[in-house]
Amino acid sequence: MSDAARLIAWFRANARPLPWRATPRDPYHSLVSELMAQQTQLDRVVPRFEAFVLRFPNLETLAAASEDEALELWSGLGYYRRARLLHRLAREVAAGGGELPKTAAELERLPGIGPYTAAAVASLVFGEAVPVLDGNVARVGARVLALAEDPRRKSGRTAVLEWVRALMAEAPPGDVNEALMELGATICTPVRPNCDICPLAAGCQARTEDDPTAYPPPRQTRAPVELRWLAVIIEDPRGRWLLRQVAEGPILRGLWLPPFDEIDETRRLEEQARDLVPFGVGAAVKVLEPVRHSITHRRIEVTPVHARIDLRLSAPDGWSWVDPLSPNLPTSSLLAKLQRSDSDPPSAPLSSVARRPGGNE
Ligand code: SF4
Repeated sequence: MSDAARLIAWFRANARPLPWRATPRDPYHSLVSELMAQQTQLDRVVPRFEAFVLRFPNLETLAAASEDEALELWSGLGYYRRARLLHRLAREVAAGGGELPKTAAELERLPGIGPYTAAAVASLVFGEAVPVLDGNVARVGARVLALAEDPRRKSGRTAVLEWVRALMAEAPPGDVNEALMELGATICTPVRPNCDICPLAAGCQARTEDDPTAYPPPRQTRAPVELRWLAVIIEDPRGRWLLRQVAEGPILRGLWLPPFDEIDETRRLEEQARDLVPFGVGAAVKVLEPVRHSITHRRIEVTPVHARIDLRLSAPDGWSWVDPLSPNLPTSSLLAKLQRSDSDPPSAPLSSVARRPGGNE
């Protein structure tokens, strides 16, 4: 039996049941699942995928919805740019007749579709022989070939791609891609590869050496950027928080959050916090314990500053009063972290609120 045949037999017997692994594959479901699963654990993806396709069962319903609705169903997955681009893609494809293109080259021309997603959809759904070189496949290939080069760089990548193409000459391309991804996720894991039950063990060169985890060589990582923010929690008498839709900056755009900004070390925190609120906050505010939040390569320490107002005010334009425990608007997991940090709010409500926009609710 060839390596390819053993790999496919293993996959058919051991593939995890996932809601998008249906026969035949739904192109739209495959696209959504591939985009959701990038950089995100599958156990977090599955319930959100099911909710997303229940609300938007096809590209047409997604195209007819607003971007806010799409972002809301994406909440908790992070990387919201993917959701925005998927929404834009849905509108573009729906306007052109509603059919996704069938080749990786055509798919890559759509908004938000890179080589990885294009290859995954083209091979899994339409059977095109294009390798998907994600981190799992790169690791398996580097170990089977005992590659001295880094498979994330050109020379190492070429060797792994040739190896995957050779497997595809003997088995359906979509099955090869998915089986290799599954093998890397469940058997040939980064730290403890389970070589004893691996279908590729017979031909694996790393297995004959002492330590298969020596492959691939460690990646040179760049240091994360450390940031310090403050976020202002304005709470009304009904326990709602004043949120605004982030309209600027490269991250968190489109999501509803309390006002926040980078901490200006030359100013008092309370003074800077007051400047971020769209109406005058006259009395004391309380500085809470910082929370940690990470976005791509940024590590952010966010210091919440809490103030409770004793009047019910209507929200100014661009702002909304929202229950922080069950926000009905697209938001970030940062909101839940701020909510947890807010277990000890100030005992005395603020008595003085100088209104700018809006008025009593
Ligand atoms: S034999 Fe071990 S190192 Fe080689 S591919 Fe299988 S799990 Fe990975």
